[in-house]
Amino acid sequence: MKIVHISAECYPAAKVGGLADVAGALPKYQNQLKHASMVIMPHYYTKFRDENKFKSVFQGMAKLGNTDYSYQIFLLQDKDLGFDLYSIDIPGLFDRENIYSYADDQERFIAFQIAALNWIITFKKLPDVVHCHDQQTGFIPFFMSKVKSYKRLREIPSVYTIHNGEYQGQFLFSKQYLLPDFEPYLNGFIEWDGLINPVATAIKNAWKVTTVSPNYMKEVAYSMAGLENLLQYEKDKSIGILNGIDDEVWNPSTDVMLKRKFSLKSIEAGKNFNKKWLCNEFNLDPSKPLFTFIGRLVKEKGADLLPATIYEVMSKYPGEQNILILGSGDEYVQQALWDLETKFKGNYCSYIGYNETLSHIIYAGADFLLMPSRVEPCGLNQLYALRYGTVPVVRRTGGLTDTVIDIGDQGFGICHNQATVWDIAYSIGRAKEFYDNKKAFKDNRKKMMQIDHSWKRAAKEYIELYKSLK
Ligand code: ADP
Repeated sequence: MKIVHISAECYPAAKVGGLADVAGALPKYQNQLKHASMVIMPHYYTKFRDENKFKSVFQGMAKLGNTDYSYQIFLLQDKDLGFDLYSIDIPGLFDRENIYSYADDQERFIAFQIAALNWIITFKKLPDVVHCHDQQTGFIPFFMSKVKSYKRLREIPSVYTIHNGEYQGQFLFSKQYLLPDFEPYLNGFIEWDGLINPVATAIKNAWKVTTVSPNYMKEVAYSMAGLENLLQYEKDKSIGILNGIDDEVWNPSTDVMLKRKFSLKSIEAGKNFNKKWLCNEFNLDPSKPLFTFIGRLVKEKGADLLPATIYEVMSKYPGEQNILILGSGDEYVQQALWDLETKFKGNYCSYIGYNETLSHIIYAGADFLLMPSRVEPCGLNQLYALRYGTVPVVRRTGGLTDTVIDIGDQGFGICHNQATVWDIAYSIGRAKEFYDNKKAFKDNRKKMMQIDHSWKRAAKEYIELYKSLK
């Protein structure tokens, strides 16, 4: 099958979160299954662009409202990602360093979607399926199925994956002129709650809708920032497929980012070496368990609960544990995390920012990974933690419920039900008890490392889904 993925992020070219990891891995595993899977993304002016060679393969003109714009399609040349990576350069819109958070994000991503389809429509052999990811690509299923100028694409199945339903990118109808022309009676296909809503548009118009875990699919029918009824209505074409991980990138025995690589046999020595390096770097105590958090410092991830949890645990049990935070996000959370550093020096540290290499070392060197998420569509961090022998300490929600089983239920992780400081603190207490039971703790590390969450399974599930649309 010829599969085209369209995404705003794709690892390693541009990553903000899990979307990039999925877009950078799923196509590779689909190609390994002998399909022809490629990715189209924006051509951001990032370090990745500067450090790699690209070949221009297409140039075109398109319209965004009343403005004509030029775009150019580049193909990544010198790096073998396991799939063809195409990126669309639109001067004035994507020649910037950051991926999101500009005032004109709507214009940027609508222009991106139009350019992507304007190029696809010129293909001699059209794709067998177009797979769109998250709100920045939400109009594509509508353009393909309802807009006259894309009539040639009408019979191509479109699949839309919700990686995170909280961000919907809604805007006023006064900006409808940005979209290509269509019959006015089709307005209902792009509208939700009086606004143009790209996620609602995708759910209404895609042939299939998927979420990144089965449990999140159940949850969104009751809680997804206002779209619950729509998801209930469209439930027959919706399915949850659990993400995998790229076990070539995330492999502790080959991971060049680690301070020491390790396999199942050398797990204790390997983890200790990485832990010691972290403790040395961040002034922590290597003889005590190391708890970490990696991720966006936003409410959705429960990051706002971290400062009070750190205060509670560190004051009640001084010197008994280390906590290391890696993340960036809401200013008030960042500030609160910084403020605690002098108070609990020697056992607590935070690194505010994004650092891919450090994240790998932390997955390898930590004893426990905290994920107190309020919302977690799939969660990749816990899967990376398992692969690196680190115990996930999670709130039971979304994909965390699908992937982490509590040690009390013959599992390997530590789970709680509520997103509260006391639930997290209680879990930290249970984790410390588990850590002190050396034999069980070591055996559990081996058990976790052997759980297979690779993309092989999920890549097949997506292929089956595409085939069902033929
Ligand atoms: P989300 O996409 O909602 O942020 P996921 O769990 O799906 O959450 O994916 C998060 C990905 O981003 C993981 O690969 C994680 O390691 C990475 N990540 C998040 N924050 C940081 C950071 N500050 N530094 C390095 N990697 C990060």
